Amino acid sequence: MAFCSNCGKEINANAAVCLNCGAAVNNQNSQGIKDTGSFGWGVLGFMIPVAGLLLWLLWSDSSPNNARSAGIGALVSTILSVVFVILWFVLFFGLAFSSFMYY
Ligand SMILES: [Zn+2]
Repeated sequence: MAFCSNCGKEINANAAVCLNCGAAVNNQNSQGIKDTGSFGWGVLGFMIPVAGLLLWLLWSDSSPNNARSAGIGALVSTILSVVFVILWFVLFFGLAFSSFMYY
């Protein structure tokens, strides 16, 4: 059973507001993870883009804020990886081309 954090009266676990005092009820979702859109999920998505992508897909309905954080982290990580690879290629071929010019 859930209790109102404002007035302490017993309330329905699925209720969005307390029927006694009208205060908003902090419902935790079924996974027990608070949908705060925490920066930590973004970091996780950044470190492990695959995990971030999975969380983004899994949480798109139940925890949209967390899903967005994880998704953005994964997206930023992916973009940085692509940029890094492009830069590496540019540097590599740039060096190869310039050394070719010297000989
Ligand atoms: Zn209440």
